[in-house]
Amino acid sequence: MEQPIALKDMSMDDMSKLVQQLGQPAYRAQQIFSWVYKGVDDIDEMSDLPADFRKRLKERCYTDSCRIYKRQQSEDGSAIKYLFLLKDGNIIESVLMLYEYGNSVCVSSQVGCRMGCAFCASTIKGIKRNLTKGEMVDQILRIQQDVGRKISHVVLMGSGEPLDNYEQSIAFMRLLHEPKGLNISYRNMTLSTCGLVPRIYDLAKEGMPITLAVSLHAPNDDIRRQLIPMSKVYSIDDIIKACNYYIEKTGRRVTFEYIMLKDINDRVEHAYMLADVLKGMICHVNLIPFNNVEGCEFQPSSQKQIEHFYGILNKKGIPVSIRRRLGTDIDAACGQLRRRFVDE
Ligand code: SF4
Repeated sequence: MEQPIALKDMSMDDMSKLVQQLGQPAYRAQQIFSWVYKGVDDIDEMSDLPADFRKRLKERCYTDSCRIYKRQQSEDGSAIKYLFLLKDGNIIESVLMLYEYGNSVCVSSQVGCRMGCAFCASTIKGIKRNLTKGEMVDQILRIQQDVGRKISHVVLMGSGEPLDNYEQSIAFMRLLHEPKGLNISYRNMTLSTCGLVPRIYDLAKEGMPITLAVSLHAPNDDIRRQLIPMSKVYSIDDIIKACNYYIEKTGRRVTFEYIMLKDINDRVEHAYMLADVLKGMICHVNLIPFNNVEGCEFQPSSQKQIEHFYGILNKKGIPVSIRRRLGTDIDAACGQLRRRFVDE
């Protein structure tokens, strides 16, 4: 028996091939693609397709790559966290964040993660599998449907290391960019990595001017090795070289994520060290207040310390901001809601 095909896994090219196989004219591919990205789940509602073709399409394809299992809204209404149930029973999480500049979804790229970052809830039970591009797209489509708002920005910063699921992550962003689909500009997409250096070079050559965000989190290799196991393979120096290559190829500035951990990486000397590492780079530093993770030894830096750190970078001419805390009342730390659910 033929394997059922996920319509959300298909690019326009894939869809053209499918409609040809089913003996239909090429323009049907665009029709189906538009219905899928309008959020229509029932193939029978794709009213401009002939009835017998809809029947055949239903026999071969399905539209639901995931469905909403649970949602948690923050008290201030600025964020909604979702748990999604996948076809194989796995659970993933995504977050909708409402900003003045638009609606942004933080998408998961894997079920769990194998990178082992010491401050992260997503990695505690390791990785189960990679997500398909359709499962990534469906997180966004379901959220759009749920809140009735258009998603304008996408960040690959949920559970998983997107560069460890390279092909699907790239194909996912190409799908988001399709004019007949969500038509999201590459400039409104961000991919966050803990620093898989060879893949940063690959990404630079894709011709997609997305924002690259690198989880740096430390001003030197000694501290970074305590936080991110991957830094035993790639040093900060390797990462900076790869990022400079990325900047040169894409013309985009790189964001460095820096999670503020009390007495670990938040001291005055760390701020000066970091400023030295990033001196002269076209970059931006995003200081992230840490949300407590159960079973994790780290403590958040005080607001005063974060502001002091910010002040030093600013004085040294490094563009820097402090990430706004969104929805701390909804298990906001990466992977926290999913972890609680899986534990239960
Ligand atoms: S921070 Fe990102 S890369 Fe590191 S373990 Fe968590 S999900 Fe994986």
